[in-house]
Amino acid sequence: MEKQDEKVTLEKIVSLAKRRGFVYPSSEIYGGFAGVYDFGPMGVELENNIKAHWWKWMVQKRRDIVGLDSGIFMSPKIWEASGHTKGFSDPMAECKECNTRIRVDKALEEVGVTADEKMPEEEINKIWDENKDKIKCAKCGKQDFGDVRKFNLLVQSNLGDFTEKGESPAYLRGETCQGIYVNFKNVVDSTHVKLPFGIAQVGKAFRNEISPRQFLFRGREFEQMEMQYFLESEVEMDEFEKLKEYRWKATLDLGLKEENLRWKKHDNLVFYAKDAWDIEYNYPWGFDEMEGVHARGNYDLTQHSEGCGKDQDYYDQENNKRFIPHIIESSVGVGRTVLAVLTDAYTEEEVNGEVRVVLKLDKKIAPVKIAILPLSKKEELSKPALELFENLNEHFICQYDDTQSIGKRYRRQDEIGTPYCITYDFDSLEDEAVTVRDRDTMEQERIKIPELLSYLQEKFRM
Ligand code: ATP
Repeated sequence: MEKQDEKVTLEKIVSLAKRRGFVYPSSEIYGGFAGVYDFGPMGVELENNIKAHWWKWMVQKRRDIVGLDSGIFMSPKIWEASGHTKGFSDPMAECKECNTRIRVDKALEEVGVTADEKMPEEEINKIWDENKDKIKCAKCGKQDFGDVRKFNLLVQSNLGDFTEKGESPAYLRGETCQGIYVNFKNVVDSTHVKLPFGIAQVGKAFRNEISPRQFLFRGREFEQMEMQYFLESEVEMDEFEKLKEYRWKATLDLGLKEENLRWKKHDNLVFYAKDAWDIEYNYPWGFDEMEGVHARGNYDLTQHSEGCGKDQDYYDQENNKRFIPHIIESSVGVGRTVLAVLTDAYTEEEVNGEVRVVLKLDKKIAPVKIAILPLSKKEELSKPALELFENLNEHFICQYDDTQSIGKRYRRQDEIGTPYCITYDFDSLEDEAVTVRDRDTMEQERIKIPELLSYLQEKFRM
């Protein structure tokens, strides 16, 4: 068995994702809808496992963090106070020939020029003027772009707006954390939390990305897993280091290879930030942001105090003092995590002169844990095999598959990353045993049926 070492391409991941029911392009039968993806039967299981893993690390294992599920829609005043209606924008330029719009900072990055999305329009236009002749339009090939202007990423809707002219739009949230900030007081008043403590939330976010690309990496609709940790300014940087360490451990626990992960410090900080780092993953195109861990000072609750006219402060009873807490946060996208685990797990191996594609996913997050494969569709095998399926199904997510040859069924299970395949054959009727095949080693073991459950439970504990 030989391992092919070259790096997996995005095309291979996209193709496997579609072929095996992980991810489909949105609205495909109508020609597609840019920036949105649908998760298929395998994708939804993988996503759910990733979200459950995050929740376990960020809520269940922590006495100092609680959960929240706030609405996608919120008062538009929230987005004004947070600065999003004015400042949540990316630099955009338009091809004069075919009107294709590109995101300027990313286009410059590709030709080795650094420009930050947070730079003022004037500053980025200066860099753009000096370098735009190096950039070709991906659609028409011309090198003729107009000036840079800032394009606001908030997605508007007419929810509750009956003016017909869209005069008071409501926004689909651009990030989940604003729902956390505006519920800070509610959580303090309704639970026993004391500073420092965190609020965690998983949910959809929407951004009018100028050029959605790289599959799940940059969508217009995506899901975030965010935790905001409220604390006193004196402990902000110590806790920040602890959060960084904790998130690194949690990320490794997803089974990602450590050599494919690295920290990157932000070169330019927004004016209120104390420090900002990204966890980058080595995607098919290279290292890129998977998660942000940021120290935000007391900017967020100060903005909302001013916005709503009520102090979003905390009363420290022990020391009899009131103050606006500082915040450190961890924010990671579900889609970017799915793409990272698929990239990390994708393996091509040569077996008997043929290429075997196998997803070596960590057992914890594999969409299907066990496949039960009767060697024949005959009732004498299917009846006891189905019984086995029903018994194991109580403990693990299982799949029952009796279609096509056993070889093809193994291939299918390898491609969705099922750790164990159980074959029920004619001998099973005699020896009350089944064959268990290990996904990674392809080794097969004969296990007595009465011992099967404890055998598998032990395997999943390892
Ligand atoms: P980028 O610089 O790549 O646009 P960002 O720094 O604006 O990302 P944040 O606003 O910090 O991203 O969002 C936190 C996390 O949410 C990101 O680390 C990423 O995992 C996820 N995320 C942000 N934008 C998108 C998107 N358009 N599609 C998918 N995931 C996203």
